[in-house]
Order: sequence, then C-alpha cells, then structure tokens
Amino acid sequence: MLDAMAIARLQAREVCCNQTFVKITAIETLVVNARMRNWVLVKVVTDQPGLYGWGECTLEWKTKSVVGAVEDLSVLLIGQDPRRIEHLWQIMHRQYFWRGGITNMSAMSGIDQALWDIKGKELGRPVCELLGGPVRETLRLYDHLGGGLLEGMYRTGDAEAFGERILESMVRGFTAVKAMPIPVAEMVESAAVLKHAAKCVEAMRTAAGDEIDIMLDLHARTTPATAIQFGRLLTDYNLYWYEEPCWPEHVDALAEVARALPFPIATGERLVGRWEFREVLEKRACSVIQPDISHCGGISEGRRIAAMAETYSISVACHNPQGPVSTASSIHVGFATPNYLIQEVVRADVPWRNDILVEPLDVQQGICQVPTAPGLGIDINEAEARKHPFEREVTMAYFHKDGSVADW
Ligand SMILES: [Mg+2]
Repeated sequence: MLDAMAIARLQAREVCCNQTFVKITAIETLVVNARMRNWVLVKVVTDQPGLYGWGECTLEWKTKSVVGAVEDLSVLLIGQDPRRIEHLWQIMHRQYFWRGGITNMSAMSGIDQALWDIKGKELGRPVCELLGGPVRETLRLYDHLGGGLLEGMYRTGDAEAFGERILESMVRGFTAVKAMPIPVAEMVESAAVLKHAAKCVEAMRTAAGDEIDIMLDLHARTTPATAIQFGRLLTDYNLYWYEEPCWPEHVDALAEVARALPFPIATGERLVGRWEFREVLEKRACSVIQPDISHCGGISEGRRIAAMAETYSISVACHNPQGPVSTASSIHVGFATPNYLIQEVVRADVPWRNDILVEPLDVQQGICQVPTAPGLGIDINEAEARKHPFEREVTMAYFHKDGSVADW
C-alpha cells in the first residue's frame, strides 16, 4: 500500500524521467544536542515535490565548523542534479583548492549520504540495493559498555562492574561488546595499572563466558610500548579486536603493535579519504578497518575504502557512535559489503533517540534485518528534533599525573 508521500515520489520520478533533470534547491543543517555530542543532520532539498534526502556529519567539538563547511560546499551544489552522486563527490573534493581534512570530509560525508537517500527514494529502492544488493541476510551489531561510565569504574577500582555490565548487553541480545578498561595511560605504565586493566577484562570474560566477543578500545591513549605492555597481559582472553592502540597517524607503530600481539588490531575512525587509508592497508597495520561513514567521505568513499581493504583480506566495521542517520547509512553499507564484519550501534545515549525519527530504527538487539524501505529508509521528525537545540559540548580534558597533556 503506497502512502501519499510514496505516490508523490513516484509522480516526481515520472516528472524526473520525462524532464531528465532534478535540481538541488537547498542544503540545510539541523543540529540536535544529544548529551555528549551534537548530531549534525544534513537535509538536501530538491525541486521535486517530497523529494529530499538526509545525511549526518556529526563532528563533536567542531559542530559549528562542520555546519559552516556544509554551507561552504552547498555553494557548489545548488542547482546541480542530486542523482549524479559521483560527479558531485568529485566536485566537492576537487573544486575548492583546499581539500581533505576532518571537517571538510565530514561535511562531504553528510551530503553524500543525503544524495544516496534521494537516489533511493527517487527510484523507490533501498540504498543497499543500489550498492549491488545485500550480500548477507542479517547484519551483526555490537553494544558499548559505555565509555564514560566505565572510566568512572576504573577510577574507583571496581573491576567487577565490567562483568555486571556485560551481562546487561547479553540479556538484550548482543553477542559482541566493546569496552574501555584501559585508562588514560602514561608513556610507560606501572604494574598496578596494567594488572587492574587485566582484572577488568577477566571480569568480563568470567561473567560472559566464551560465547561473547569482547573488543577493547584504547582510544589511542597509549604509546606503542604501553599498548604492548597491556596487550601481553590480555593474551589469555581471546579478544575479538584491540582498537586504536596508538596514534592512528603513526602507521609504522600500529604495524609494530600488530606484529607483537596475538589478536586483531582495529583502526581507522579518525582517517578520512581513501588516500589516508592506503598506508594502513599497504603496511598491514590492522586486521579490521573502521571508516566512519559520517567522516571518511560518505557512503561513496566508505565503499571504496572497503574494496581496497578487501584486496588485503582486511575486514570492515564502520565506526558509528553518532545519531540515527549515521547508523542507517552504515547499515546499508554493511549489508552491501562482502568483507563487512560487524556494526557499532548506540542504543541508549538519550532516551528520545528514536523520537526524532518518523519510524523508529530497530538496533536494540544484536542483529538487524535487510532494510527494505526506499533510500536510507529513515525520515526525520523535525519538530521533535528541534526540541534539542545546539549546546556546546562538554570539553574533555585529560592530563597525566604530572600535569602534562594526555590523550584521552
Ligand atoms: Mg574507537
């Protein structure tokens, strides 16, 4: 049964086919404050009735910058045909002298997602089908134990809390979780800190058994030496992956950690564009690559990075701690990408997460089904979204014991 909007879209499609041209008339941003980050949603509007697309380029602590970057890029795109996705990607990337960088590439990512959404809606097909069709019947999802919460647990020395929290994820149907038991570290760590991190991981493994996959995110807080120190105490726990063990731009160091430890290394959430991923892949510095569809250059670039990774037998697991549009985009890429491993989802950052969607996105269990609705399959309830306007993100400042700046 077609609803009024679907009929309008089909009528718009007929008009499009007859006129062979659709124009972008506006590119708007909608900022939604969701506690620790502002979701930056991008709406690309066309001259066809009811035909618009949503994307997301959330970039916490740089919200105003990325909103401005979308505005700058829109100058190039107004009046263009949104269905020429690759052509517009090239325009956004190459038609200004200054290219690349996290802010610009995030803005491009949001617009790119919205263009795919438009194309899918116009054709009446889900984006994953336009990417070649689903290559799997279901997509596995993983849960977070909660970074901030567990940081607190670490400081209070409550290793058992990790065990209690992992059981909560399992009850909800998840078979894989990610945790952050390794604290903001010194350049070389002491025995007490190392052993406490191992106790936290042991608590998770003891509580959950071997049926659940455990990933650790080090957030690049550690030097290569410290990452290896921690990792050597964790070899008995069969980690699913060990994420960002050192600065992502230090690719030789990542490779050094990868050679020293027996579990897969994951990295890539802070890299943008296929050119930044190339060195990581060529040096086999990881086993799992984590492009973020809201930063790396969008669905278009995420697919290219995944194909590059496939040639090195490296898996893909898109980074996604952001809002629901980013999640939807990542899920479509996941369903259409053969070397996709698992999808990160956030389910409980704010209780109204699904309220800003016209139809809720079901990521509450550990698995999701193939999307069937046109485009990205989501629409934003703008009135609900506007109830949560921009607020400046809380600054996260971390220092070593001696007062010098630390990575967090
Ligand atoms: Mg991470």
